[in-house]
Amino acid sequence: MTVAPFNPTPRTLMGPGPSDVHPQVLQALAKPTIGHLDPQFVAMMDETKALIQYAFQTENPFTIAVSAPGSAGMETCFVNLVEPGDKVIVCRNGVFGERMRQNVERVGGEAILVDDEWGHPVSVDKVAAALAAHPDTKLLAFVHAETSTGACSDAKALCALAQQHEVLTIVDAVTSLGGIELRVDEWGIDAVYSGSQKCLSCVPGLSPVSFSPKAVAKLEARTSPVPSWFLDQTLVMGYWSGTGKRSYHHTAPVNSLYALHESLRLLQQEGLENAWARHRAMHQELKLGLQQLGLTFVVEEAHRLPQLNTVYIPAGVDDAAVRAELLHRFNLEIGAGLGALAGKAWRIGLMGYAARHENVLLCLAALKQVMAK
Ligand SMILES: *Cc1c(COP(=O)(O)O)cnc(C)c1O
Repeated sequence: MTVAPFNPTPRTLMGPGPSDVHPQVLQALAKPTIGHLDPQFVAMMDETKALIQYAFQTENPFTIAVSAPGSAGMETCFVNLVEPGDKVIVCRNGVFGERMRQNVERVGGEAILVDDEWGHPVSVDKVAAALAAHPDTKLLAFVHAETSTGACSDAKALCALAQQHEVLTIVDAVTSLGGIELRVDEWGIDAVYSGSQKCLSCVPGLSPVSFSPKAVAKLEARTSPVPSWFLDQTLVMGYWSGTGKRSYHHTAPVNSLYALHESLRLLQQEGLENAWARHRAMHQELKLGLQQLGLTFVVEEAHRLPQLNTVYIPAGVDDAAVRAELLHRFNLEIGAGLGALAGKAWRIGLMGYAARHENVLLCLAALKQVMAK
């Protein structure tokens, strides 16, 4: 059998991730593979750690990239920080909050659920009530930027509340990192995870994670072993600790880490606040255009994520046919609705390198043509 080399057609990625990868990031991937304990690689990893700290706005010494996608970053937080019997308040206002509940229960924790409607932010008042009703709560877990709906929750207020109750926080920042304001130290977030392929515009497969000293202390005080070998951070710390002594835990995905280094370097060059402002500006442009096409947003203006625009599919418009035509005629990918919004909404991403004028114009022009049919 003769198999031809795989040559994917370049697409414009405006869905919920992966997002368009910056050309310099793709070039970084093609650099020569070296050993993961090579001094040059170790030096690059030290820079990567500092760049992740910058992106998260944290000085946490425990700041790493898990060698797996965002879901593994999520699991890293739960398997290390939740012990059997721990009460965890889990906020559910979309797909990813529900996955947090599953994580808590799989490691033997007790999930106290705070539910909000899809498309709405997490209610700070409901969380306050749950904290008051369960004074023995150990952790509060919520999603900052719900990619399934496009809603942004008030991470600052939720973390302040948790601190008042001496409860640690686990925050999903997969879609927020690099796209909207996120200040891990200032807001007092204890455990945060993200993904490489959303607003960092890197290839999928890596998950930046950071634990505060309080989270590390909870991990170190565990009386039961972490139930996952690969994600057990007590074993991984030796690799990332910048003491010069790197020990083997697993083979780092060398070239993917070159790509992450380059994407974070580009973010730092632009400046975090400039990147946040660019996402807002591109969202404004896209929003006006979508409204001119008669599309309405699922999320109220005050809680909308600039990097993930969820709009209702107009009555009589064939969801799958429109997305297929965008892909085949314009090489443009937008996202389908997920869960409760499946078949009802489109999710249009403006993440990282995808948040630029050319993409906004292409998306609006293509949607206009395709919907006119
Ligand atoms: C994409 C996403 C994840 C999962 O990340 P993967 O890289 O797909 O594993 C988790 N949480 C949120 C909010 C996401 O958008």
